[in-house]
Amino acid sequence: MIEVSNKCIGCTKCVPVCPFAAINMISKKAVMNEACTLCGACVQVCPVQAITITREEASAKDFSGYKGVWVYVELTETGDKTHPKKIKPVTFELLGAARKLADELREEVCAVLLTDKDHNYAKDLGAYGADKVYMVEHDELFEYNTDVFSTVIVGLVNRHKPSSMLYGATIQGRDLAPRVASTLYVGLTADCTALAIKDGLLLQSRPAFGGNIMADILAPNSRPQMSTVRPNVMKMNEPVVGRTAVVVRESAKLDKSLRRVKVLERKIAHDAAGVKIETAGVIVSGGRGMKTKEKFRQLEELSKLLGGVVGASRAAVDLGFKDKAHQVGQSGTTVSPKLYLSFGISGAVQHIVGMKASDVIVAVNKDPNAPIFNVAKYGIVGDAHEIVPKLIEALKKK
Ligand SMILES: Cc1cc2nc3c(=O)[nH]c(=O)nc-3n(C[C@H](O)[C@H](O)[C@H](O)COP(=O)(O)OP(=O)(O)OC[C@H]3O[C@@H](n4cnc5c(N)ncnc54)[C@H](O)[C@@H]3O)c2cc1C
Repeated sequence: MIEVSNKCIGCTKCVPVCPFAAINMISKKAVMNEACTLCGACVQVCPVQAITITREEASAKDFSGYKGVWVYVELTETGDKTHPKKIKPVTFELLGAARKLADELREEVCAVLLTDKDHNYAKDLGAYGADKVYMVEHDELFEYNTDVFSTVIVGLVNRHKPSSMLYGATIQGRDLAPRVASTLYVGLTADCTALAIKDGLLLQSRPAFGGNIMADILAPNSRPQMSTVRPNVMKMNEPVVGRTAVVVRESAKLDKSLRRVKVLERKIAHDAAGVKIETAGVIVSGGRGMKTKEKFRQLEELSKLLGGVVGASRAAVDLGFKDKAHQVGQSGTTVSPKLYLSFGISGAVQHIVGMKASDVIVAVNKDPNAPIFNVAKYGIVGDAHEIVPKLIEALKKK
């Protein structure tokens, strides 16, 4: 329920920021009409805190009207003028996960796309599993902005009532999802590594206590149930060419004043070598067992010969063998290459959660009991300093 108290001074600041044209000034007081979605945009701008939203007690609510597994579509810049943006791969991974959940619930998978210009995104979203695409096309959606995007999403959620909503645990998703969750007053589980259905609820699993235990989290008292999922954790489904999604165009009236942060300059940051371990097909990773920075450098040569990039454990990063952009694991990057070679890495749980989705894992460690061997397809018990040069020599001969 939304209420305007006597504190209202009739300043009209709330009127233009309402994306749904739901506020009229009557006798110099703001009055909300039935178009109000409780998105909270007006609450943010009211200078005298005259507007309050009261949420119903969650446990008293009937959730039978909440249907559909939603996926937030994240766009990324390409640098190409004709197609300046493309869908981030994590969106397709989430669509695959959402598909399984929705099939079990017998609900729809809906992609939520906010963009300034439609580049026929629905084609790919359909091919990767979306039944429906809720699309909001507006000039003000030209780039991600917390206030604007969260307001639009809250409006869509209040209007269509999904049972669950998934976001990538990316910089954008980690900014957007908590904002939406706090506005809607619902739960949010960050950095999930597995999702399933339990008794009709979304079972969200994520590492806890430094990765030493897995926590299973349910949110029975609020809707939508919301999670962020790290890139490369869920396997992307093969696209089904010709599978289409119904596009539902939604309108939103977005005023510039909703945008409280103004971007003055934008720079696309690249690692010195242009490295992107999250998308690499081959990763040659080293740990503390590589002993020195010089010895660690041998992995560069090996990775070049294999057409891959170098990864590192946190210990190797802390020792200065490689910089943080290369760290694999819970507090680094989650990767899923076709081939993951590990040298002198023990296989602590915080490392494993970041690489266990790799297709083939090969581990070299001189300790036969090193936990890395539990996830490796091929294991070599031996000295990395002998094995790495031999591999380099053999590959050079080829
Ligand atoms: C909250 C939290 C987040 C974390 N996040 C991450 C993360 O994102 N990524 C990460 O990696 N860690 C992370 N860690 C740290 C993690 O717990 C481990 O400390 C770390 O992964 C150990 O790195 P390592 O395997 O290189 O070193 P060690 O555990 O010291 O292992 C070195 C291994 O090298 C082997 N070895 C030694 N010499 C040789 C040789 N000559 N040839 C072959 N093998 C040899 C040894 O047998 C040993 O198994 C995190 C920890 C916490 C608490």
